[in-house]
Amino acid sequence: MTMNRRRALGLGGAALAALHPSASRAQSPAPRIVASFSILADMAQELAPAGAQVTALVGADADAHVYEPSPADGKRLARADLVVVNGLGFEGWIERMVKVSGYRGTLAVASQGIQPRKGDHRGADPHAWQDLALARRYATNLSAAFALRWPQQRDEIARRGADYLARIDGLDRQVRDWLGVVPRPQRRVITSHDAFGYFGAAYGVDFLAAQGWNTHSEPSAAAVARLIRQIRKEGVRAIFIENISDPRLVERIAREGGVRVGGTLYSDALSGPDGPAATYLRMIEHNARGLAAALQA
Ligand code: ZN
Repeated sequence: MTMNRRRALGLGGAALAALHPSASRAQSPAPRIVASFSILADMAQELAPAGAQVTALVGADADAHVYEPSPADGKRLARADLVVVNGLGFEGWIERMVKVSGYRGTLAVASQGIQPRKGDHRGADPHAWQDLALARRYATNLSAAFALRWPQQRDEIARRGADYLARIDGLDRQVRDWLGVVPRPQRRVITSHDAFGYFGAAYGVDFLAAQGWNTHSEPSAAAVARLIRQIRKEGVRAIFIENISDPRLVERIAREGGVRVGGTLYSDALSGPDGPAATYLRMIEHNARGLAAALQA
């Protein structure tokens, strides 16, 4: 992956300072971090030095798979002190966007070192943030990139990183408790796109989806018919809307399969600030609690 060659970990502090002379000034302005999507922006806000201005290119409830950069987003990228991306092919648009915008810094790749899931579809599954154990790796990678970029705040970055990892570990234990009460054969769920493979592998839930690892094309009639058959014949108990997708497909599958929609899962984006998934950790909690409730019903 060409993106990885530019990763923050590959560049020494001297090279970074040369690219960003302002960073070495005593009274440097608040760090400006641009994250490719909302989930990563929240993690970056938790892990960056206090006061950092973190923004997301693809915001709450929006679908990063079909994002089209605007000129204003390009300007934001060009002014960033550091850009963080998921990697694993999630941001198919980032290479070109970096080139067009003139951003000359590094791309910190949050999924660096993670072995991607292979499976039913072509390429790699990019949705690794859905497994809290892999989110640990995201956090470690981001902390390392921030410490390299802002070496004077290394201690603060390390402290914030340790605190965040402890919260990730605590939630991981809770998710296992919540889902642990559901008998294994009942843990089958339908969603609109195949975004929960890592979650399913980590916590023992089978996810079936009408669309693959991205949302570029409409689901085929055959895929939809297969899901309806699976609800009727194999007793799939729960079907969920995704916050980034048009709910009508899932509502139709639920109607024709004769099951109730279990709620909304947050797949590739957070909710707005007043919603139930305003942060990454709240998103995982909301999804896990919603799944456990629907699968026991
Ligand atoms: Zn996705």
